[in-house]
Amino acid sequence: MEPGYLENFIQSIWDGIGGIEGKCLVVGGDGRFFNKQAVQIILKMAAASGAARVIVGQEGLLSTPAASHLIRLNEADGGVILSASHNPGGPDGDFGVKFNTANGGPAPAPVTEAIYQASATLSEYHILDAPDLDLTPLGPQRLGEMVVEVVDPVADYAALMEEIYDFQAIRALFSSGFRVTFDAMHAVTGPYAHEILVNRLGAPAASLRNATPLPDFGGGHPDPNPVWAHELMSQMMASEAPDFGAASDGDGDRNMILGRGIYVTPSDSLAVIAANAQLTPGYSAGLAGVARSMPTSSALDRVAEKRGLDCYATPTGWKFFGNLLDAGRATLCGEESAGTGSDHIREKDGLWAVLMWLNILAVRQQSVAEIMRSHWQEFGRNYYSRHDYEDLDAEAAAELIDEVRQKLDKLAGAPLGPLTVSAAEDFSYADPVDGSVTTQQGFQINFAEDARLVLRLSGTGTSGATLRVYMERFVAGPDGLDSDPQDALADVVIACEALTALRQRFGRDAPDVMT
Ligand code: ZN
Repeated sequence: MEPGYLENFIQSIWDGIGGIEGKCLVVGGDGRFFNKQAVQIILKMAAASGAARVIVGQEGLLSTPAASHLIRLNEADGGVILSASHNPGGPDGDFGVKFNTANGGPAPAPVTEAIYQASATLSEYHILDAPDLDLTPLGPQRLGEMVVEVVDPVADYAALMEEIYDFQAIRALFSSGFRVTFDAMHAVTGPYAHEILVNRLGAPAASLRNATPLPDFGGGHPDPNPVWAHELMSQMMASEAPDFGAASDGDGDRNMILGRGIYVTPSDSLAVIAANAQLTPGYSAGLAGVARSMPTSSALDRVAEKRGLDCYATPTGWKFFGNLLDAGRATLCGEESAGTGSDHIREKDGLWAVLMWLNILAVRQQSVAEIMRSHWQEFGRNYYSRHDYEDLDAEAAAELIDEVRQKLDKLAGAPLGPLTVSAAEDFSYADPVDGSVTTQQGFQINFAEDARLVLRLSGTGTSGATLRVYMERFVAGPDGLDSDPQDALADVVIACEALTALRQRFGRDAPDVMT
């Protein structure tokens, strides 16, 4: 909001991508505080730098997946998406500017590096001196020499979903008495869910919670997890719960999936989708391959192994999936942090995942709990949990990471608490498409007991560091598939403490967040 700040940021993007003269861009955001003002500034700066055309969502709104789709649909040269994802909004909340490239995906490292370099030498920015545009009427208008095309933010995205999924089957499911509830968390997916779930699929309007986007998301975090979507959680855990519950985040790219009395972890959801996607029209030809971020549970790998699919483990961050999707090596991909998606766009996609589940439920005519049970019976269950330790002293956290790195080479074969290490590595990723190598992406420690521990440091900043501890343990079944995940993972917690002494070191009894 500081005068010139956004302008410098945007000019650095224009300069970093080699200018925008004659180019076509897509612009929109999740509706959070400052979205409207930012869109006007970006349009005037695009006009001043000679862009030919900008496609902008009505009132400046576009979900991240819808923006990715519009870039691809219109063969645009890129897009600017305004969002801070699942982080809170408002005058004291968060705001973000993302640049996506012509494939519709987040800018890869060479592009962000070029933008950063441009920012380091920036001496001026260009902006058209013009009144704000009215972004309510649909259709083209002019801003200087540039065409501004105001589009319905939902229409093209909804049409894409209708191509991928069997809407008739989902409509029949809804009219058979199947009850659904969707929580838009006062964020951008409200209008999308209304058009798709209510208008096109016939769900009652009362199925939607918090469906009007608000600049401050009603004061909450638009983060679809059991903590921030606790009202939805308690609705779904009640005896009279609907058959299916779901939520999405601020900009619509994340999802949470629930059945009556059951929460589906993002890792399990990805595995179930991989095992059942061929039941939907868009994926009836099968999958080219699948991909997950390294910390995501290997439930996906179990499906890939049985179905003869290639399975890739990438560093955390959606941009690492882009090459695999572009090269046709993977069709589906996902992250433990509630992101799931496919090659239909180049972002993760919250409503796409919700509709995938609904289409699968419509075909299989089983409850969410029944589908999970039969999945675990067939593939085994990967018990999984992430423990976050927040606001740690940054220096002490960095010290801990250094200490663990020193020990890594000597861990194989050694006991850690009740478990025995079979392999330990500092995860690095060689992109099979372009050969680029990304190093130091987290410690991965595998145990002989079919368990795994992953440690990653993130969010180093003024308020300290966050240490993420990911724990996983596989049970083949048929017995032992109904434990509480925290109980099933107790030995991995002990092993983690044996390696890091982190609870003792930071004086913590328990993690700040458990998912
Ligand atoms: Zn997001």
